[in-house]
Amino acid sequence: MTAPARPDLAGPLPPGSTIGILGGGQLGRMSALAAAALGYRCHVFAPEADSPGMQVAAARTVAGYEDAAALAAFAAAVDVVTFEFENVPAATLDILAPLVPCRPGVAALRTGQDRLAEKRFAESIGLAVAPWREVTSLAELHAAVAALGLPAVLKTTRLGYDGRGQAVLRGPEDLAPAFERLAPRPLVLEAFVPFEREVSAIAARGIDGRIVTFDATENRHAHHILDLSIAPAPVPAAVAAAARAAVARVAESLDLVGLVALEMFLLPDGRLLVNEMAPRPHNSGHWTMDACRIGQFEMHVRAVAGLPLPEPGRHHDAVMKNLVGPDSFARWPELAAMGDVALHLYGKAEARPGRKLGHATRLLPLGAVAEARDSGALSPL
Ligand code: AMP
Repeated sequence: MTAPARPDLAGPLPPGSTIGILGGGQLGRMSALAAAALGYRCHVFAPEADSPGMQVAAARTVAGYEDAAALAAFAAAVDVVTFEFENVPAATLDILAPLVPCRPGVAALRTGQDRLAEKRFAESIGLAVAPWREVTSLAELHAAVAALGLPAVLKTTRLGYDGRGQAVLRGPEDLAPAFERLAPRPLVLEAFVPFEREVSAIAARGIDGRIVTFDATENRHAHHILDLSIAPAPVPAAVAAAARAAVARVAESLDLVGLVALEMFLLPDGRLLVNEMAPRPHNSGHWTMDACRIGQFEMHVRAVAGLPLPEPGRHHDAVMKNLVGPDSFARWPELAAMGDVALHLYGKAEARPGRKLGHATRLLPLGAVAEARDSGALSPL
């Protein structure tokens, strides 16, 4: 069989085309599975052999993200490239972007990998963020604390996730040790947000500029790692609509083709503050795989492949539980026996503490989350 001709990238990729995925984690794995269902092949590029993504890929390259020769060969072997994480080195993009369409684009990736760029971008499009200051020295940290007060949260601007690279400052004695520990600099100091709930929303944008959004989701964390997502978020309709409008504005303003997730804090007065954005499928959207006709991974693949983006068509309410580390992973046989639970395991060899090994989504009848909010009886997994 001859390889399909290099497609007209203004239109949809024909079935049989190859989507390159940079990164070998579970987000790439679930994207590759969704791509296979639409007749595409996926070629996963990652430094680790036998990564979750590679286990389900049609082709794989095990190489470093700055290996120019391997990246050039990868670009030649695929029809489009997408990313399952945003911390792609600048050098990688410099090599790939001239050779092959990269979706989302460079601007979305660059914005999503730097907390300062994220905040400036959010403010530039009229979205509110917590008061913040850029910090490059201990003297600047003292000045920032004087301006924002305590408690406050000091964060690295790059490579931070799941609470890594941040410290809560409660008293003056916390400043110097936190400043010494956190790197690289600059850092960012944020006022502590007394949020009522954390919510997120996901938008997909297609090559024709059409945007669809998934229902806003409530997220609960344990030890700084996402533990539960509840969908639709049990918040007033105006808040849910504002969350979806915010992520749609982000997708539009970044001119991205693909997915973007926006994490927000909901204040007691109903206002939303943007915390973080990620131009890729997101853990808080895993429930969409089972509770929507088109889940986030299929929507991601559709966007990067240039297919139409119909509405997601949510047909259930849902509660998603992350299986993190050996303890919650050990529940898999019990979860596998539940008829109303969809179980997804990521094929990771090592069950280290703090590692996301799978997730389980309990499907509930439409309206069940709102009813449970009113009766106070939501039973999570
Ligand atoms: P992040 O890495 O920015 O997503 O932060 C991880 C978690 O830390 C968030 O989901 C919040 O629960 C908490 N957090 C982060 N920033 C703040 C803040 N400025 N105020 C209060 N809590 C925060």
